Amino acid sequence: MSDIQDITKIFGSNVFSQRLMKERLPKETYKALMKTIQQGSSLDADVAHVVANAMKDWAIEKGATHYTHWFQPLTGKTAEKHDAFISPTAEGGVIMEFSGKQLIQGEPDASSFPSGGLRSTFEARGYTGWDCTSPAFLKEDGAGNVTLCIPTVFCSYTGEALDKKAPLLRSMEAVSKQAVRVLRALGNKTSTRIFSTVGPEQEYFLIDKEYYDARPDLIMSGRTLFGAPSPKGQELEDQYFGAIKDRISAFMKDLDIELWKMGISSKTKHNEVAPAQYEMAPIFSTTNIAADHNQLVMETMQKVALRHGLICLLHEKPFDGVNGSGKHNNWSLATDDGLNLLEPGKTPHDNEQFLIFLSAVVAAVDKHADKLRASASNPGNDLRLGANEAPPAIISIFMGSELTRILEALGSGKAATSDGQQFLHVGVDSLPPLPKDNTDRNRTSPFAFTGNKFEFRMVPSSASISGPNVVLNTIVAEALDLIATRLEKVSKKDLDKECQAIVRETVKKHGRVIFNQNGYSAEWVKEAKKRGLPNIGSMVDALDHMSNDSAIKLFGKYNVLSKQELHSRHEIYLEGYVKTINIEARCSVYMTKRLYIPAVVEYTEQLATTVASLKEAGASAVIQKDLLKTVSGLLDNVVKKLAVLEGALSKAQTIADLATQARAYRDKVFTAQASLRQDVDALEDILPSHLWPVPTYAEMLFKL
Ligand code: ADP
Ligand code: MG
Repeated sequence: MSDIQDITKIFGSNVFSQRLMKERLPKETYKALMKTIQQGSSLDADVAHVVANAMKDWAIEKGATHYTHWFQPLTGKTAEKHDAFISPTAEGGVIMEFSGKQLIQGEPDASSFPSGGLRSTFEARGYTGWDCTSPAFLKEDGAGNVTLCIPTVFCSYTGEALDKKAPLLRSMEAVSKQAVRVLRALGNKTSTRIFSTVGPEQEYFLIDKEYYDARPDLIMSGRTLFGAPSPKGQELEDQYFGAIKDRISAFMKDLDIELWKMGISSKTKHNEVAPAQYEMAPIFSTTNIAADHNQLVMETMQKVALRHGLICLLHEKPFDGVNGSGKHNNWSLATDDGLNLLEPGKTPHDNEQFLIFLSAVVAAVDKHADKLRASASNPGNDLRLGANEAPPAIISIFMGSELTRILEALGSGKAATSDGQQFLHVGVDSLPPLPKDNTDRNRTSPFAFTGNKFEFRMVPSSASISGPNVVLNTIVAEALDLIATRLEKVSKKDLDKECQAIVRETVKKHGRVIFNQNGYSAEWVKEAKKRGLPNIGSMVDALDHMSNDSAIKLFGKYNVLSKQELHSRHEIYLEGYVKTINIEARCSVYMTKRLYIPAVVEYTEQLATTVASLKEAGASAVIQKDLLKTVSGLLDNVVKKLAVLEGALSKAQTIADLATQARAYRDKVFTAQASLRQDVDALEDILPSHLWPVPTYAEMLFKL
């Protein structure tokens, strides 16, 4: 049997899927559970008990001994605490047990997760609650353990979200509710729930473990803090879509199999632009499942890489001078009866709907660009955004020339079409067919319309996709709310006119966010400023926009995040920033003192000895003397800059106010470290290879 035929058997074999539930649950239980999953109604305790039993039996058949409530605390990673199914009997033995209560709720002693002040010490516990919209699955580890994982939300005793999943579910609810209102007003009678859908493309690097083990910076901070550029970088563009090497291919095959088992539809794999950089993309799913799956993708990539003697780097900027990694968050809205609301249709009515939803996204993104920017910020992305490779830090929408022309024409109130022949009225005329491949050419845009979805390209490669999608769903919910309120007020005969007005006003008011040219250019920065678009340079500044009055009002109104939740998140993320830069700085100090300075001192000693013996022999020592002077000069710089870094670090560490401290880390510590790096890297270019204490960029990026 070929591998290809196997996939259908492998796929989802570790998932307690809808098919399995139907097979294994009594009809009534199945029906009740489906109602909960599809309509979000609450789950009866008796039903939960029956489901738990069926789940346990299945898991045990597949070799599971433990179960865990799998959740996503604000560290951005996932968390799990394993409990065996065993329960004691009166006779001193055990039986395998898993109750409905254990399925629905857990009380991990999770007091060490960041809560940003949401939990007081007397109620340090967090609670996990089953999210039945994301299927339970089995995780197999290298040691042969099989664990039943139950996707859960993680909340405080008083119900405040302590995780990434709870707000995501709330935002999905919000956008569904408002989208249904708009559809109803437009005459749709069949769709009852709207799902935001996401297909996240994941970029990553692979390097040989031997090199990784010899680089304290990669081990401690996930990125190289030092390293002179390799003579060859990505300039030949020979890596992008290049033939995949056997060693990498073996990794990718293994990865696919592991992902397929967990029901993750890994579909596309290829070499990316930078040397040693790769990408995988799954088939899209509802946002909640996509977010869960993306966490599993990242975790599985790292695990499987190790089996192949490789290390998977998920950091946004592991290597200077070549592209970093991101996630392209492909986002759309789908109805429960199978319509993609961002798909331009064939009939005038379909197009009316399309233009209305498109307008909602344009208005939302323009109005809340700062929040989107904030949702894509992490310490790693500070090294990417605006640095001429990944999207710029300015949010703009790429619409493609055809659609832009249409929108502009509608916006100016003039009747027009792409070819200027017919007249165009929303809801009356069809749009000219939009050439799909035309829409995806501009890779410099942070937010691109790609034919039937938007691609948010700013998302950090190592981060959870929840945050960005919470923002997207909520801002679009607000825009749809405003549109629905208008449409609900007009009579049927005025509906087309009102739609036309909505599109026109949106283009007028928010058209400034549409930009189809080169987003990396210096002119765009100037032009964006003229247009009044925010250009937020760093994570520390960006975070303010997720806890200011505008954010509190927006996320509060749609019950996605309360003021307290926003504030606690702000605090946790700022702390995360401070800790990250602190680790990087300490690691820089460590490497400079323990590795680089000793190597350089050794070389200067060798040079000095050579100079002395050459002199004694009466030979010229000019070259050696020059070299010694250059190296000593650089060493002098290193020692001075090291002192600056250490000074900045100890000062920053004592600052009590978190926001001030974060700025000190950004403006003083980070910059001191970058400055130190310059001289160390210059030394790397001079010292003989055998004296250099760590693997070089050339080795890490090209020797695989
Ligand atoms: P690209 O040219 O960017 O590689 P693809 O067509 O391969 O584009 O799609 C990229 C991702 O977008 C995939 O994960 C795909 O499943 C996802 N995608 C496609 N349609 C939708 C949609 N309606 N909603 C969300 N994601 C989608
Ligand atoms: Mg793409």
